[in-house]
Amino acid sequence: MQILGFEGAYVAGILIVVFAFIALLAVILFAVLVTAGVISVLIFRKTRRVFIPRATLFVISLLEAPIRHLMWFFKRDDKIVDQMLVQIRNSLYSEAYRKTVYSKRAIFLPQCLRSPNCPAKLTPEGIKCVECGQCGIGEVKKIAESLRYLFFVVPGGSFVKRMVKKYNPEAILGVGCPMEVKEGTAMMASVGLPVQGVTLLKDGCVDTRVNVKELLERIRLGESKKEVDLEEVEKVSKKWVEKEPAVFVKIKK
Ligand code: SF4
Repeated sequence: MQILGFEGAYVAGILIVVFAFIALLAVILFAVLVTAGVISVLIFRKTRRVFIPRATLFVISLLEAPIRHLMWFFKRDDKIVDQMLVQIRNSLYSEAYRKTVYSKRAIFLPQCLRSPNCPAKLTPEGIKCVECGQCGIGEVKKIAESLRYLFFVVPGGSFVKRMVKKYNPEAILGVGCPMEVKEGTAMMASVGLPVQGVTLLKDGCVDTRVNVKELLERIRLGESKKEVDLEEVEKVSKKWVEKEPAVFVKIKK
């Protein structure tokens, strides 16, 4: 009995050591991955570049909460994490998006890009822009619809999901605040839809702004090999420019 007791204690001791070792390895792995995640976010913040995008997407998606906490701890704006995830998905899905014909794509713009005096009405198909000219949405609508995109101005909530279910587009372009676009692009990618996202330059839910050049580039990505037309960018930007000169892209003569 005494020998068995000794053997039992010996086995229990070994198990405790093994578990402690595994726990230590897990803690070290966690610390290494979180540190690598924070470093890649800081590199992205400086250079707008992402190395090994697939692995970075995996690590940051898995450890998003601790990475954000560390960013807050070091007083860094954690919006950059959302922007980085959007950029990674943009690069991972750009080829599939490019190969999808315009007529099978849908674009979703947020209602906060509208003028505060927007006369458009809310309908079951979103906010129906009447192209009144008080903001750039009307111009973007004309361009997207001329290419045969499905075009929506999102009133909020589960609207995007509902329209995707109804119209079955084969690729999605979404605009919104960084958190919204990150979540939307992740959701669409998870159901196998090639997706592209554009984050707002200025968010805040009312009278927001977007980088028009980037938006038009992503709309035209694919079928046309042409560079984005700067005259077109200028024309659309002008609709927002009176209030926010930063979005105006001046043509270099
Ligand atoms: S152009 Fe802008 S302000 Fe005018 S109806 Fe369309 S969304 Fe509203």
